[in-house]
Amino acid sequence: MSAIILDGKALSAQVRAEVKSKVAALAQRGIRPGLAVVLAGDDPASKVYVRNKTRACEEAGVHSQQIDYPASVTQEELMACIRKLNADPAVHGILVQLPLPKHIDAARVLAAVSPQKDADGFHVESMGALVAGAPGFVPCTPAGVMRMLAHWDVPLSGRRAVVIGRSNIVGKPLALLLLQKDATVTISHSKTADLAAVARQADILVAAIGRPKLVTAQMVKPGACVIDVGINRLADGSLAGDVDFAAVKDVAGWITPVPGGVGPMTIAMLLENCVQAASK
Ligand code: NDP
Repeated sequence: MSAIILDGKALSAQVRAEVKSKVAALAQRGIRPGLAVVLAGDDPASKVYVRNKTRACEEAGVHSQQIDYPASVTQEELMACIRKLNADPAVHGILVQLPLPKHIDAARVLAAVSPQKDADGFHVESMGALVAGAPGFVPCTPAGVMRMLAHWDVPLSGRRAVVIGRSNIVGKPLALLLLQKDATVTISHSKTADLAAVARQADILVAAIGRPKLVTAQMVKPGACVIDVGINRLADGSLAGDVDFAAVKDVAGWITPVPGGVGPMTIAMLLENCVQAASK
C-alpha cells in the first residue's frame, strides 16, 4: 500500500486563489489588506521565509512592507517599530519574523503587537482564545495542517492524534485544534518515554520536531495519517522533513511530503489571516 500524498503546494494554490477573490471583494469597499513584516538580523533562512511571504502577498493583492533591522537592533527600537505599526491604519497584519537576535526579549516584542493585527497568532491573547475555543487568529502552520486534514477528509473525531513537539507556534496550538475536532490528543516531546510506542498508537501522527527523519516506518501505525511539519537542511544542502518519507509512505494511509507539504500551506494561511484582519 502506498499512502495518499497530501499535496500542500496544490492546495495552497487553491487557498491563495480564494484569498485573491476576497481581496478583490475588499477592494470594492476601498480596503487593501496590508501586512508589515519585521525582520531583525541576517539569518539566511529567515530572509528566505520573509521573501516568500512578501512575494505571496503581492501575488494575492495584499500590500506588504518589510522593515529590516541589523542584528544589533535594540529592544526599544523594535518596541517603537511595533507601536508605530499598531497605529498605522494601512497595516492590518504585523508579523515579527522569528528568531529574533539573542539579546532581544522576543516575548515582549510579540506581546506588543496589537491583538487585532496578530497575523501570526502568536500573541498571548490569540493563544488564550484558542485554548478557550473562542474566535481569534490561529497560528499559520497549525491552521494549514487543519486545512489539509479537512480537504482530504481525514477522520478526526474519536481518533487518536499524537503530536510530537510542544512549541507555542506549532505543537501546542495544533494539539488544541485537533482537540476541537474531537480527536483524543497526546502531546509528546524530548522527554517522552518510549516515543515509538506512543507514536504507533496514532491515527494522526504529527511530527513538529526539527530532527531529520526521526519518525521511522516502525513508529507508524498502518494506515495512519502522517503530517510532517519539520524543515531540516541537510549537509548536502537538500531539505528533509522529520519523517523518513521513503519508508513511511508504504505504511501510512496519508502523508505530507517535504518540501511541498505543510510549508506552502503556512504561507497561504498567513494571507488568510491578513484578509481576516482587514475584513474587521
Ligand atoms: P522547536 O524547536 O520550538 O520545538 C521542537 C519540539 O520537538 C520540542 O517540543 C522538543 O521537545 C521536541 N523534540 C526535540 N527532539 C525530540 C526528540 N528526539 N524526540 C521527541 N521530541 C523531540 O521547533 P518548532 O516547533 O518551531 O519547529 C519544529 C519543526 O518544524 C522545525 O523543523 C521547523 O523548522 C519546522 N517548522 C516548519 C514550519 C512550516 O511552515 N512547515 C513552520 C514552523 C516550523 P522539548 O520541548 O522537550 O525540547
